Amino acid sequence: MNIGEGVRSGNRERVVGWRAWTVIETKDGVRLGSVIYDTVWQPTEQAIAVCHCDRLHDAPAIACTCGFHAARDPVDALTYLHGRDEPRTLCRVLGEVRLSGLVVETEGGYRGAVAYPMRLYANDLELAATAEAILWSAWCRSGDPETDRIFRAGVESMQQQKLADAEELFSRVIELKPDFAEGWNKRATVRFVRRNFAGSVADCQQTLARNPNHFGAASGQGLCHMSLNEFREAAISFRRALEIHPHLDAVRHNLALAEAEGGGSGYLN
Ligand SMILES: [Zn+2]
Repeated sequence: MNIGEGVRSGNRERVVGWRAWTVIETKDGVRLGSVIYDTVWQPTEQAIAVCHCDRLHDAPAIACTCGFHAARDPVDALTYLHGRDEPRTLCRVLGEVRLSGLVVETEGGYRGAVAYPMRLYANDLELAATAEAILWSAWCRSGDPETDRIFRAGVESMQQQKLADAEELFSRVIELKPDFAEGWNKRATVRFVRRNFAGSVADCQQTLARNPNHFGAASGQGLCHMSLNEFREAAISFRRALEIHPHLDAVRHNLALAEAEGGGSGYLN
């Protein structure tokens, strides 16, 4: 991606830009890959940049081209949606990426040391289905076929408003695979809808302990605290969600509500 020369470098808490990914088939399932290099992005993990030009420096260096590239303008990333693909590449997707750590700002975007995909976009039905499959594989796979089957049954029960069934199914998922964050997160959602707010908070905390990048669990926990009139805790949860994903307008709105109710503006932890 041509994002121009480096103009300044420094540590950034976070910056969100646009990039393209390849969608590739690996032995572990469908994954995101880098368009230029062989990097495979692992689900729920942040990707760490290395310099590819055998120069002994930490990536990204201002005078080099290393680091994860992100464009300020999505149009610049769009040109990378087309190209000659390897056989294992299923398609390419456009998305938003969060960069942190050392970030070099360039004429047209950023090069960052640490990257995490935030959202994927697809412009036709086939691509949309593939992007959904990726998010599914990134967040919704336990690594065990039987647990995955029960998980999917739980999602279907939720969609059919059979909430008691759904809660039971997700409890079984948690029993079978306690390390699988999404099992906890889905039960948190069901418990929230069933107005078991304290139970939902506990499940959100379990989700975040396993996947600290889960902005849905952070913001969901905030909503539970709001329902319990725990505005200080609500504000902390909403701030955590915004730290993970700064573009969540609804969360920003909820944070303002929590603060207006006495949630304070400082950090508790
Ligand atoms: Zn370099």
